[in-house]
Amino acid sequence: MIIIMLGAPGTGKGTVASILQEKLNIKHIATGDIFRKNIKEKTELGMLAEKYIIDGDLVPDDITIKVVEDRLNKPDIENGIILDGFPRTVRQAQELDIILQKKGKKVDRVINLVTPDEEIIERTINRRVCSNQECREVYNLLLKRPKIEGICDVCGSKLIKRKDDTEETVRTRLKTYFEQTSPLVEYYEKQGNLMTQQVSKSINKLGKDVAEDIVKILNNK
Ligand code: AMP
Repeated sequence: MIIIMLGAPGTGKGTVASILQEKLNIKHIATGDIFRKNIKEKTELGMLAEKYIIDGDLVPDDITIKVVEDRLNKPDIENGIILDGFPRTVRQAQELDIILQKKGKKVDRVINLVTPDEEIIERTINRRVCSNQECREVYNLLLKRPKIEGICDVCGSKLIKRKDDTEETVRTRLKTYFEQTSPLVEYYEKQGNLMTQQVSKSINKLGKDVAEDIVKILNNK
């Protein structure tokens, strides 16, 4: 099964995707994580991507599509994948369709997460992530605090704040989302595989609640 997580930054795509990865036994691939790993390792790709990420802009399509194409050529995706943070432009979506078509596959489900902007800003500036690339557990100082301050409950590594989780950058990322990524809602609506879910404390639904609902829907199919 090929699932895409769509939604503005901070809506909970990563949280939902990591729960789905476990429950459905499919691979969670996050382009943001791939870029951050490369930045940490100071690779050529990392150095190229860093300036766009810090400014809240998108990494250019040609670079991003190549990264995803290479990743999808690895054998561990045979059971299925959840793409988190890709595609983010119509061109990326079109190229993804072509890449999958060549493999005899297609996008099965697109999960579109929607959260009010002010809640997104509050959530992202309070987000902390595990610095261990293999773990990547996500915390929130308001909603999901670690048991020991600054330390990951799962693996004991240090928690860090992403450089692009400042209020100013998040506002730019939201603008980028509405200008370049939100047209994908219509793109996938036309393909007939879009499933929209509200993620908001105002309706008592956070990422983990939505993930449970999605698993039920997918298992009943
Ligand atoms: P994320 O972790 O998904 O919030 O991504 C962090 C940053 O990585 C984004 O703000 C972009 O700068 C970059 N990025 C991640 N995925 C993509 C993509 N599909 N296209 C372009 N840039 C991306």
